[in-house]
Amino acid sequence: MKKKRCVCGVDLGGTKTATALIDFHGNIHHKTKKKTDVSDGAKSVMAGIVGMIRDEFEYADNHEMIVNAIGMGSGGCIDKDKGVVSYATSVFPGWIGMPIKDILQKEFDVPVSIDNDGKVTALGEGWIGAAKGVENFVCIAVGTGVTSGIVISGELYRGYGGYAGEIGHASIEMNGVECDCGNYGCLDAYVGASSIIKRVTKALKKGVKTKINDKIKGDLANVTPQTVFESAQEGDEFALSVLAEVSKYLGVGIANLINTLNPELIVLSGGLAQAGELLLKFVRPAVKQRINVQATGQINIKLTKLGEEAGVIGAAALAITNMEQS
Ligand SMILES: [Zn+2]
Repeated sequence: MKKKRCVCGVDLGGTKTATALIDFHGNIHHKTKKKTDVSDGAKSVMAGIVGMIRDEFEYADNHEMIVNAIGMGSGGCIDKDKGVVSYATSVFPGWIGMPIKDILQKEFDVPVSIDNDGKVTALGEGWIGAAKGVENFVCIAVGTGVTSGIVISGELYRGYGGYAGEIGHASIEMNGVECDCGNYGCLDAYVGASSIIKRVTKALKKGVKTKINDKIKGDLANVTPQTVFESAQEGDEFALSVLAEVSKYLGVGIANLINTLNPELIVLSGGLAQAGELLLKFVRPAVKQRINVQATGQINIKLTKLGEEAGVIGAAALAITNMEQS
């Protein structure tokens, strides 16, 4: 029997790492998700990724599939030609300089492509997701951090040094709070998961009445953006106020992008997209308030179609695109 061709998509995020076997039409045949544990340093994170990929290769072998390439999206700035991490915030300690491509290529002997997770996610949405068939769009992924992928005339825009799309570190408050990157007032510091958790935990300590209390069962360590979104969807006033504030800041970031690029579509992806239609309800007016008057009639903001799978599917899209070009 002829083996089914597939690629292995890897999505390294600040909270979780996912791997998947994906065919050339974007169908997922097998996937694994694990917590990203950075406590033992970058080498141990890398070893964990190698182990997860090895398991996917083994699964492929046992199920009449063959892995033709590996694609990976990682947080931080990536030198995509060398496949090395050139910059990462303290979310990934020791990650700068990690020669990911070399390590994976030696280990698995297939072509390896790697890029920043925001760019990779945009590729996935353009391939089979919310931006399928759209030539000019920006995909913003809000999770542990905030990143984006800009697609212009059907091509991913990487910028001069490859670092285009780092919207998470765009200043939205000149004298704002400190960000993981060392700068002040970055979008990341207002809408990233840790900023939401910090804000909610502080309010809970002060005794705010909210359904979040029931969900965390008295343990502040259980506060996650998801507990906030679920409570907001149930009409909880405090959770709604948190989501409204996050949306206001995100709206400023999106408005800056729209005013600069005039894209046809903005796709919201990452953990924040789990807030669903409610998120759009808050974000749309916040954006509308700040964009060029001619663009207001054209604002088109959608949620991801690929949900949690956007990262691995995008990583597969990257691997397949590079296979086709080589
Ligand atoms: Zn920053």
